[in-house]
Amino acid sequence: MAQQMNFQAEVARLLDLMVHSIYSDKEVFLRELISNAADACDKLRYLSVTQPELLDGDDAFSIKVNIDPAGRTITVSDNGVGMTRDEIVENLGTIARSGTSEFLQAVNDDSKNLVSQIGQFGVGFYSAFMVAQAVEVHSKKAGAAESWSWQSDGKGAFSIEEGDKSSRGTDIVVYLKQGFDQFLDAATLKSVILKYSDHIALPIFVDGEDKPSNAASALWLKPKNQISEQQLKEFYHYVAHAFDDPAFSMHWKAEGRIEYSGLLFIPSMRPYDLFDPKREHGVKLYVKRVFITDKADGLVPHWLRFLRGVVDSEDLPLNISREMLQHNPMLSKIRQGITNKVLSELGKFAKERRPDYEKMWDNFGAVIKEGIYEDIDNRNDIAELVLAKSTYSDEYTTLKEYVSRMKEGQDAIFYVCGEDAEKLKKSPHLEGFIARGIEVLLLTDTVDDFWTGALGKFEEKTIKSVTVAAEDLSKIPEKEKKKEDEKAKDFSEMKELIAAMRRELESVVKAVNVSDRLTSSPVCLTAEEGDIDMHLERFLKKHNQIKVPSKRVLEINASHPLIEKLAKKVKEEKELSDSLKDMIWLLFDQAKLMDGDTPSDAASFSRRLDSVLQKVLLIRN
Ligand code: ADP
Ligand code: MG
Repeated sequence: MAQQMNFQAEVARLLDLMVHSIYSDKEVFLRELISNAADACDKLRYLSVTQPELLDGDDAFSIKVNIDPAGRTITVSDNGVGMTRDEIVENLGTIARSGTSEFLQAVNDDSKNLVSQIGQFGVGFYSAFMVAQAVEVHSKKAGAAESWSWQSDGKGAFSIEEGDKSSRGTDIVVYLKQGFDQFLDAATLKSVILKYSDHIALPIFVDGEDKPSNAASALWLKPKNQISEQQLKEFYHYVAHAFDDPAFSMHWKAEGRIEYSGLLFIPSMRPYDLFDPKREHGVKLYVKRVFITDKADGLVPHWLRFLRGVVDSEDLPLNISREMLQHNPMLSKIRQGITNKVLSELGKFAKERRPDYEKMWDNFGAVIKEGIYEDIDNRNDIAELVLAKSTYSDEYTTLKEYVSRMKEGQDAIFYVCGEDAEKLKKSPHLEGFIARGIEVLLLTDTVDDFWTGALGKFEEKTIKSVTVAAEDLSKIPEKEKKKEDEKAKDFSEMKELIAAMRRELESVVKAVNVSDRLTSSPVCLTAEEGDIDMHLERFLKKHNQIKVPSKRVLEINASHPLIEKLAKKVKEEKELSDSLKDMIWLLFDQAKLMDGDTPSDAASFSRRLDSVLQKVLLIRN
């Protein structure tokens, strides 16, 4: 008896989208069904290494695409692993795949890209409903006695009942909607297969012919010069479940102590879950052409988790279990080999095709920089690849380029971290640097707070946050001489003000100093040498990593008119008046605000501002 069941809510929405899709490249449904058939064969081939009885004498894996013009159906069949009843129910209807909700979201944002995203989000099977008025699935799991039949018109519900399929594997029967008769033509199907599925390493037979319609060889084993751009692209679409074109590809064969082939890609689009901590890399592991797993922990370092492609090892044992893989020393050797290869290829990429490299960096730079603190062995090589914005120009710079522009007397690489490069440029911390023509890196990724400290030095130059590096500036002359003369005057005028500020702000600042970095702002806060960078501290506080923030140094600009006047006033008054106290606190809060921080106490801040503004108005009247 057939049992009726409803699709899970998100799946139902997705199907509704497919049924009503106006996307023109509907032929991709065939690519998705063939890719599922190939996956199913790969899975059984892997299982049969340890359980040969599952093959039951049939080890000639293949995919068949048959046409029934009278019934207006296309059937995609495989002799792969098959599905049990529960697997059919879950995989094809009741469990939304992890990418489904993200897919629906992406479609909302940009419906034109609908189908280009299907593969990436792992919702390929449902694409059949773009061309189908109904779909049947008949499946027999390898090793099982019974088979099951699933049926649906994609409108909210499906049915499942025991079937009569006698051979192992899965048949997907697509009942074409009106208007899709072109898919009933063998020549059309063959050209679609050539376009999307040529590289599938299994023969695909169309319409009962005994010659496969695809090359059916493992693309990654072919010599480089025998692979066309187009083949590379389609292979990327297949392994990456992606529809964008690869930004960069790497194809090599490692020979010697360890032997493996690699065909790896960097996508040109950033995947939606790049920063999801659960995200795994997308490199499939094969052993001697047999697919083993796409979840080999430790095959690729975490900071290269955006890579897609295939690694095929000659040395690993075929019957290795996924669990044993983790502890296999060969795997870590392969990982090191891959890492070295990728590092050197990226280095070439940066040199030879800088504009493309910059686009790649926009997508994945933040992930690559994670490697600087995670991957101690490769830290210095990864640092060579870093691109950053800086005060030098609007273009990206490498650290090497930065060093080559360093000023005489400058012995450190300076950076500032924050949310937005344009805002950072206006930070008071930068004033003294800009006045001296010293370049500062403007870093805006969360990871920048961490790799800078982890790396410590680049080409012997210490990497320093401008909010920490206090005393370094005095060694380098300012660009304009005039300013220097002003500076030369002694700061005795400031003595009383500094003392008064120290007393008043004792609970919140470590020290009050005359600044040599400020040129137009009256005040700023800095960290003492050895203290934690202020942006990093705010980040850690937000994530509850630290409770009590450390005290900062308040720097004052002795040439600023406001500070000059204030110093005079403080000198005249023996006791600090309330309004002078208010001003001192306001200056302190101003410094915090300029750092993107909030005033320490909003109510007092507002009261002080209010009273100062009132006084100004009274004087005016
Ligand atoms: P994906 O292939 O990304 O997992 P799909 O929507 O294409 O997503 O397929 C959903 C799931 O249905 C697959 O993961 C697989 O478990 C199952 N499936 C689909 N087609 C087949 C098939 N021909 N043989 C066995 N299982 C299949
Ligand atoms: Mg699929």
